[in-house]
Amino acid sequence: MRRAIAAFVLLAAGCAAEFPNPMPQSIVVLGTAQDAGRPHIGCAKACCVTAAAQGQHERVASLALRSRRDAWWLVDATPDLPAQVRAMGSLPSGILLTHAHIGHYTGLMYLGREGLNARGMPVHCSEAMAEFLRENAPWDQLVRLGNVELRPFRSGERIVLDGERLSVEAIRVPHRDEYADTHAFGIRVEYLQPLLYLPDLDRWEDWERDLGDVAAAYPLWLVDGSFFSGDELGGRDMSVIPHPPVVTTMDLLEERVRAGRLEVWFTHLNHTNPLWDPESAAAHETARRGFGVARTGQLFRSSD
Ligand SMILES: [Zn+2]
Ligand SMILES: [Zn+2]
Ligand SMILES: [Zn+2]
Repeated sequence: MRRAIAAFVLLAAGCAAEFPNPMPQSIVVLGTAQDAGRPHIGCAKACCVTAAAQGQHERVASLALRSRRDAWWLVDATPDLPAQVRAMGSLPSGILLTHAHIGHYTGLMYLGREGLNARGMPVHCSEAMAEFLRENAPWDQLVRLGNVELRPFRSGERIVLDGERLSVEAIRVPHRDEYADTHAFGIRVEYLQPLLYLPDLDRWEDWERDLGDVAAAYPLWLVDGSFFSGDELGGRDMSVIPHPPVVTTMDLLEERVRAGRLEVWFTHLNHTNPLWDPESAAAHETARRGFGVARTGQLFRSSD
């Protein structure tokens, strides 16, 4: 299998955009933290005390899909949306939303009157998510004032964003759905390996899709790595935690990864996750088993 090239974009001093436009077609990781970021509010443990003391701020999980030099789409509107848009150096052509949890849509607030006061920013989301935004304050105001233009999709639909250059398949996934439903995105950017973006999932066993079929269609995955194992939660029973631990996901996918049929990167890391530290035993185990930990600024582009 031709492996995608994952590069890391360095901050260029004096350059307005943090992730300047190196390739016409690329996918940029704009953040890798669970919904509430890191340092995490109220956390007095070493994970966040150290990060705060070092001035670290890990942005919430999000992606930029660039189909041309002058056009890109934002996947999920996080609480870090202003910094993530600034990092790209221009406004997105549209926004896609996975689901109605705070790390994935509340950044829409910056599009309203008190912020950008956007004019008809296309927002692609499921029909249930669109109804949630239309029916609930303060989001309904964005719709009423025309700051956003909702473009609802159905599960299984392929959303064509930029002709042959960029399309996204909406794939329903099982997750806590208090307000709406949850979708992963099967992303096809011209010249790039098809990529599955699945930041939130309850349990692999609850997903009706055959993992082999999904891997055949999308050989590159960026998936839920919220918790490494039960250890970081004081030995709590992981079966009641609504995310597959990284160790479980590796058990499930390692054979395909080792056979070169699949490339997997973990994102959406909880503040407690030892994978934040590239020198941790967990990070070494993950690398040894052939998996990657996504980092902000990471770039997927064609190997041509
Ligand atoms: Zn989340
Ligand atoms: Zn913490
Ligand atoms: Zn969620």
